[in-house]
Amino acid sequence: MANNSFPVDGARVLADLHTLRSIGAYKTGVHKPTFSEPHLRSLQWLVQRFPEAGLTGDIDGIGNVVGVSTKGGPKLLAGSHLESQNYAGWLDGPLGVVYALEAARVINSDPGMNGAVEVAAWCDEEGHFGQFLGSRSYVGAVSEADIDAARDRSSDRTMREALASAGLAGRPRARCEPGRHVGYLEAHIEQGETLESSGLKIGIVTSIVGIWQYRIRFTGEQNHAGTTRMAIRRDAGLALARFCVDIDDRFPAVCGPRTVWTTGRITLDPGAPSIIPGAAEMLFQIRDDDTTVIARLEDLLRGMAADVSAQGRCTVAVERIRTGAPAIMDASFQQAIEDASTSPGGGGSLRMPSGAGHDAQILATVMPAGMLFVPSIGGISHHWTENTADADIVTGAQVFVETCRKLLTS
Ligand SMILES: [Zn+2]
Repeated sequence: MANNSFPVDGARVLADLHTLRSIGAYKTGVHKPTFSEPHLRSLQWLVQRFPEAGLTGDIDGIGNVVGVSTKGGPKLLAGSHLESQNYAGWLDGPLGVVYALEAARVINSDPGMNGAVEVAAWCDEEGHFGQFLGSRSYVGAVSEADIDAARDRSSDRTMREALASAGLAGRPRARCEPGRHVGYLEAHIEQGETLESSGLKIGIVTSIVGIWQYRIRFTGEQNHAGTTRMAIRRDAGLALARFCVDIDDRFPAVCGPRTVWTTGRITLDPGAPSIIPGAAEMLFQIRDDDTTVIARLEDLLRGMAADVSAQGRCTVAVERIRTGAPAIMDASFQQAIEDASTSPGGGGSLRMPSGAGHDAQILATVMPAGMLFVPSIGGISHHWTENTADADIVTGAQVFVETCRKLLTS
């Protein structure tokens, strides 16, 4: 494990990750929804680590923690998130925060090193209350009205109530200072099996996909399931099911090599065994790092909906409800990660897009940004069995710290 301009303490990195795992433990993972007691305790744990990393900071008015340095020279911002999906894994988020903390501990205390790493834990990356509310707040894209409107999707608790009970109501929100940082670096578990199957240890993220989401409504006629002849039915549920199959038949001819699409939720109205559904709704999403591909698929989707409506049994309405822009990772950041990963002990690397969303895509709107991945065992994530080999965690930490050094000295 030797790449070593700097003494990365692998045992310390693993110990920190295990400490965070013990806060809100669930089986071998964690249950740390945004603003839950274990999430808040994890944020406090990070704040308490800041002095040893030459940083100061506290939890802000939206639940972000951003540690700042008074050291001279360039500043690199690094981090990830500390809340989890419900009953999920221990590394999704904390890995990137602990790597950033380790980089700050190593680099900020080195008098021979001009510049510093500043550490962030972005609130609610997992979207319990909204979409990237923490990192979007930091870049100035969340209004007070947005916070007023935010609710926990699991409990319906408002974000205002959650902030008040956490003692954060009225605290100022950390905001990025234009020009302060040379950029933002985030590490994350891959959450897929590309690295594991390639035998390489570091994924260099080239882009983060954009996600476009749709509410597709089918309107037919509600009627009796026993007395209505098949020939005259206007079954909205059946129309929806046919439409899903049709998408899978027709999208491959138009999509890009890595486009993915998913029908995540289907509801039938009224949804009873003896009633022909008069209405049906599906939530559908498309992900790609090229918006022209997504736009092309949307055109196809709307054309298919118009065809179904024209046939006269059911009408179909397609409404786009989310338009997430893809983010391209900075070329010099990609190069720095690649250079660090080819040093002795760096594990070798592979360039790849991220199919999952990350805070780096939000930071990329205001500064150069880069991301690196470490392997996920079996490609499993958003599940309590999520894991990464200890040796891979340590290799990732070394490559991360080395990348920070390169970015601060380039
Ligand atoms: Zn994550």
